[in-house]
Formats: sequence, C-alpha cells, structure tokens
Amino acid sequence: MDFNLSDEQKMLIETLRTMGEREKFKELAKEIDATGEFPTQLLGTYAEMGLLGMVLSPEYGGGGQPAINAILAIEELAKFSPMIASSVFESNVGPVRAIDLFGTEEQKKAIIPGVCKGEQSVSVCMTEPEAGSDLTALTTRLVEDGDDYILNGRKIFISGAGHASHYFVYARFGDKKGYKGIGGVLAEKGMPGFSFGRQEEFLGLRGMPSCDLIFEDVRIPRKNVVIPEGGFPDMMLTFDIERCGNAAMCLGVAGGALEAAKTYAQERHAFGRPICEFQGVQFPIVDMAMKLEAARLLVYRAVMGAGRGFPSIYDAAVAKCFANEMVIEVTNTAMQVFGGYGYSKEFPVERMLRDARAWCVAGGTVQMLRITMASLLFARRFDQRK
Ligand SMILES: Cc1cc2nc3c(=O)[nH]c(=O)nc-3n(C[C@H](O)[C@H](O)[C@H](O)COP(=O)(O)OP(=O)(O)OC[C@H]3O[C@@H](n4cnc5c(N)ncnc54)[C@H](O)[C@@H]3O)c2cc1C
Repeated sequence: MDFNLSDEQKMLIETLRTMGEREKFKELAKEIDATGEFPTQLLGTYAEMGLLGMVLSPEYGGGGQPAINAILAIEELAKFSPMIASSVFESNVGPVRAIDLFGTEEQKKAIIPGVCKGEQSVSVCMTEPEAGSDLTALTTRLVEDGDDYILNGRKIFISGAGHASHYFVYARFGDKKGYKGIGGVLAEKGMPGFSFGRQEEFLGLRGMPSCDLIFEDVRIPRKNVVIPEGGFPDMMLTFDIERCGNAAMCLGVAGGALEAAKTYAQERHAFGRPICEFQGVQFPIVDMAMKLEAARLLVYRAVMGAGRGFPSIYDAAVAKCFANEMVIEVTNTAMQVFGGYGYSKEFPVERMLRDARAWCVAGGTVQMLRITMASLLFARRFDQRK
C-alpha cells in the first residue's frame, strides 16, 4: 500500500493553494456567502488550467486522469469554500460521468467538450417532493410518443438548477413499478414545458444555484435517453463517484477549519499567553486533525479503488458517512476555538459550520448510507418497505 502522492499530485495541490492565495479566495468565499452569487468568473481560469473534466475521456476533450486527482483538487479548493470547488466537482464527479461512462457517442460529443471548456454543465435530478431517501418511489414519468417521450413531474433541491445547461433526470418509463422502471434522460434548459422554481434559501452553501425543476409535457427526443429503464443500478454506481466528491468537499471544509483554528490559536492571547499554549485548546485541535486524517484515508481508499471507473459501494458509503459527520464535528470545534469571534461573520468558521451541515443530507443521508453498509455487512437486503 502506497500512501504517498506523486510529484504531479503534490504540484497540483501546491498550484491550487498558491492560486487561492494569489487570487484572494478567502475574501472571495466571504463575498459569495454574503451575496449568494455563484462564482461564474472562475470557470474560464479552471478550464484553462485543465481542472474541468480532468477525469473525463480524452477523446472528447477530457483530461483522462484518475479520479483521485479530481478529488485532490476538490479538497484543496473547498478549503476556501465549497462554492469555489463546485465547478470542479460538477465537471468531474457529477452526472457528466454517467454520460462519459454510459452515454451515446452523440451525447458525449454534445456535452463533454462544452463541460471541459466551462460553457456547459450537467445537474443530477433525483429528488422529488415525495421521493428523497425513498428514491425508487419517484413519479416523474416518461410516456412514449412516436420517436419521443413526454416528460412530466417535479424535482426539488436540484444543485446547479437554472445555471446548468443539461439535466440528468431520473424518471420512470411508463407504469413499471419500483427500480426496474427507472432510467435517466437528458433535459435541456429552454425545452418547451421545462421551467424552474424559486431559488432555495439554505442555511449554508450560499451561492449554489438550487431550485425545483418543473416538467410539463416536455418533449424529450429518444436520443436523449442516457440510461434506459432497468439501468437504475448503473445510475447508482456512477452516483457513488459523486458521493466520493461530496466526501472530498467535507475534507476541504474541515481542512480549512483546522487551518483557521491553528492560526487563530497562535494569534489570540488570554492570560498573557497565546491560547495554543493551553492543553484545553491544543487537544480539541489535535482531535480535529485526527478525525480529518482518518476521513481522508477512507475517502482516498474509496477513490483509489475506483481508478477511472466505479468505487466499491461499501468503501464509498463508509467514506461519505464518516466524512459527512467528521466535518460537522471539526467545524463545530473550530468555532469553539474562536470563542465569541467564532460566532461572528467577521471570521470564516461560522460559514464553514453552516456549509458543513449540508453534506450529511445531500447525496444520500448518513442514515441511508448506514442501511447500505448494514446490508453489505450482513450480506442481505433489509427491505425498508416491509
Ligand atoms: C444542499 C443540498 C443539495 C442537494 N442537491 C441535490 C441534487 O443536486 N439533486 C438531487 O436530486 N437532490 C439533491 N438534494 C436532495 C437530497 O438528495 C435529499 O434531500 C436527500 O436524499 C434526503 O431526502 P429527503 O430530503 O426527501 O428526506 P427524507 O427521505 O424525507 O428523509 C427524512 C429523514 O428520515 C430519514 N429516513 C428516511 N427513511 C429512512 C429509513 N428507511 N431509515 C432510517 N432513516 C430514514 C432520513 O435519513 C432523514 O433524516 C440536495 C439536498 C441538499 C440539502
């Protein structure tokens, strides 16, 4: 087992770290949180640096790199803010991977080059008002009509909604019940009958476009089917890659909080000494570091196992669940280290804690991940509907 990063990987991390300092990403993170504006201005720079689609197929303009490189980039950028990392996330571990792995030649040519240039992006559209954790209860429906399908339904909490050019929609083909009737199609922004709800007001992740998608008799050409009915297991396999990206966001946010807490503990004085000289401050910071290191090993293990394909379902579930809970604990401790200032918007840790809270729900809740892990540990399926 080799726990060392290659020289190129170290250089990638260093390049992003110095770019973040040079381009004042800490200030940008604060500005995004205050204004709620998605940082579109970063797309051109990221495209030029080859960060967008760095793991996608080179034949279509992708970088052809292993998934771990994208995870390292997401982690490094998320130390500043998940919003600063989000286009690297979407273009590498988002649903564009489903198109890269399962899409037709025509779909790949139409989408991947644009994603790598930062001109297009794809959102994943699973959740419905009555189908979140219980995803296979989804009712968004496709009905055949000549060469096309007619799509009706509503999706909620869709990250990137309104901003993205393409929407990878989990939908039911006809009336077939359960997961066997589910497949995935591409809806394009601007299609007649496809509209957006109002922007969500979340606790954190401010700056992330998110809203409902409304499909009213939207005509979807047959060529937009990425995964036909019955392909739900493949869709979940590709979603496991996204879960590793979600966990990498947690590593980044926790890493940012740890750095901020260490710096503050050396600068802030109490009782005539820097507070880092008190064990009561050192130990929680050491605990933050230990939890982060453990999560990092789990996330890297899941991603290294994936190469350019899929991670193990178990490894991805363990990594996401652990990292999701770790980042809440770590950012919460960071806030305590900052005392009263931690609760103030003057310092970044209150934002980090607000952002941290999203991940244990987004991408599958930690409870649902534990159900997956239980079924793998006991080697049997626990039907939640019984
Ligand atoms: C910031 C953010 C971004 C998101 N982005 C997207 C996106 O881009 N695309 C998308 O499709 N969705 C997105 N979501 C939605 C997200 O995937 C769902 O919120 C999540 O899957 C949970 O579904 P729900 O909200 O309906 O909760 P519910 O399914 O109603 O669950 C409510 C609670 O009950 C628990 N629960 C439910 N069933 C069980 C069970 N059998 N055993 C134990 N506990 C159970 C859950 O763990 C949870 O705590 C996003 C959500 C957030 C917060």
